[in-house]
Amino acid sequence: MELRSSFSLGLTGGIGSGKTTIANMFGELGASLIDTDLIAHQLTIPNGIAINAVRQQFGNEFIQPDGAMDRAKMRELVFAEPSAKAKLEQILHPLIRQETKKAAGQAVGSYLIFIVPLLVESGNWKEKVSRILVVDCPEQVQIQRVMARNGLSQDQVLAIMRNQASRQQRLAAADDVIVNQGDLQAIREQVAGLHHQYCQLAQASVKNHP
Ligand code: ADP
Repeated sequence: MELRSSFSLGLTGGIGSGKTTIANMFGELGASLIDTDLIAHQLTIPNGIAINAVRQQFGNEFIQPDGAMDRAKMRELVFAEPSAKAKLEQILHPLIRQETKKAAGQAVGSYLIFIVPLLVESGNWKEKVSRILVVDCPEQVQIQRVMARNGLSQDQVLAIMRNQASRQQRLAAADDVIVNQGDLQAIREQVAGLHHQYCQLAQASVKNHP
């Protein structure tokens, strides 16, 4: 059996920078994508593995008739009460770690890409991944994309962005940067170049850690 490479990439970027778009390009080339936002979301869909704990902690009124967590209601509560936010995170964070690990164990691609929107802001991702790729674009472009994609106002997008690291903070954490603006074909070529490098690093890490 071939030994798995220990190389992994953390992919991050501000809201609307193009993380999903770029990650999918790497996925098409053969990298395994692990989307931590998607994992978090799936915990609280109907029959999600966090539902029982949320019900026990917060009561039935936070669970919808379809069995999913009532996100709007929960958002209101955690916004108003920091202690409720901490309790919710105590339930979700260990499960996110557990499910992320499980997904990584099952992945079969040439190397792993963890898509982590708040990589720079949260936890110890920097120590967990071999390399950090930041998807970057001007803030004005981010704002326009998210207004168009999510039907939000400029102020709503700015409020989200204020809760995220600044462009400069993210760039300071980057090993590699893709400026995702303009022609997607040119960006696809940059992705292919980086993918080639990452495959080589993945190969080298198999050799170095038999
Ligand atoms: P994120 O995952 O970082 O929030 P997305 O990949 O969803 O960002 O991209 C945000 C929006 O911008 C999407 O609607 C996407 O189709 C669009 N988009 C991404 N990259 C480009 C690009 N280079 N040119 C034009 N539109 C883009």
